[in-house]
Amino acid sequence: MTISSDPKQVKQICFDNINVPDMNTLAVAQKHGAYTFLSTVLKEFSPSKIIDEMKTSGLRGRGGAGFPTGLKWSFVPRNTGKPTYLLCNADEGEPGTFKDRDIMRFDPHLLIEGMIMAGFALDVKDAYIYVRGEFVHEVNVMNAAIKEAYAANLLGENILGSDYSMNLTVHRGAGAYVCGEETALIESLEGKPGRPRFKPPFPAIEGFYGCPTVVNNVETLATVPAILELGGAWHAAIGIPNNAGCKIFSVSGHVNKPGNYEVPMGTSLKTLIEDYCGGLQHGTVPKVIIPGGSSTPWLLGEHYDTPLTYDDLMKAGSFLGSGAIIVMDETADLVAFTRRLTHFYAHESCGQCTPCREGTGWLERVITRVENGQGTQEDVIVLGDAATHMAGRTICALAEGAAAPVLSLLKHFPEDVQACLGENA
Ligand code: SF4
Repeated sequence: MTISSDPKQVKQICFDNINVPDMNTLAVAQKHGAYTFLSTVLKEFSPSKIIDEMKTSGLRGRGGAGFPTGLKWSFVPRNTGKPTYLLCNADEGEPGTFKDRDIMRFDPHLLIEGMIMAGFALDVKDAYIYVRGEFVHEVNVMNAAIKEAYAANLLGENILGSDYSMNLTVHRGAGAYVCGEETALIESLEGKPGRPRFKPPFPAIEGFYGCPTVVNNVETLATVPAILELGGAWHAAIGIPNNAGCKIFSVSGHVNKPGNYEVPMGTSLKTLIEDYCGGLQHGTVPKVIIPGGSSTPWLLGEHYDTPLTYDDLMKAGSFLGSGAIIVMDETADLVAFTRRLTHFYAHESCGQCTPCREGTGWLERVITRVENGQGTQEDVIVLGDAATHMAGRTICALAEGAAAPVLSLLKHFPEDVQACLGENA
């Protein structure tokens, strides 16, 4: 591990070696510290010690929900007579998110090492990486890295001479956004259409093939090796309380240098955009900032100084989500942007729940009318009404995510909508 043991010096964790050439190969990865602590973990740590370290670390799931990882692992029942499965969620379908693919294509051994450590803690014999189908290159890189890991006895039987054995398989999804939801992912991995399940039961109790299952995001699992080598307390001291560690943000939109940036939690939106992303293309303050992927409520220029934490973004009225920050300046056509998102969500609804199946279709049809200058005041009322009644009435959060941009547009920029109505206003 090449990361500083002084938490105050730590600027990034998962991306520490992201720019090292050929880091995807085992030889280079090992030269930069990969797998150096794995043998110690497998031979000297107990599963309960690992879970305790994870709890102490304060790491919260980096896929979107922000649930404490150690706590999630502690929910898995032991000695049920059934196998326990570990599934890595690499579906990364949220519009604006493109961070996990960089871990997979540039530092795949970091993810593999994190999965072996997590698998050992959870007594997993078979683990899977469920990858978004479009990520063909990433799948090829992951498979090559896994092959090298098997050849070096880092996967398979009696890993590094220990008593622990684990198999790891990459599975490509078929392109459904909703398969990023953990129960839809499980359905899809079982070979069924990817439709979310009712919860409870939660996957920790009844997941893959009805067995205890942990689903963790790529970034979450890639953080595990650093936590176990440098300690849970070390990780907890990075960032700010209740929002520990570093986080990768995928920044897109009207910034000069869009891309993935890992920063300590608590860094402000303004610092990220101006110091890392080269500032805005036009103007000095963004018109809209979507902080956690397209399904999170919009923030405005007045929130520019907000620290990037789960708690502060919630206080500001949105969510950290997957860390996909979409920035729009004064030149953005917000009605067209919202219409494009409604099309996406209508297309991706799995159709199980009426408010989502019908609601997403209504939102798309009505806002398309508005954008084309054929909308009426009644259409504006229908938009707000339909969006309001979709949230909280469905099996998964897709409906709420579909409603979020429409509600944000109507709440913050009613004049943009009215300007589209033309002679019907
Ligand atoms: Fe399917 Fe939408 Fe219901 Fe989610 S909310 S289960 S995507 S219909």
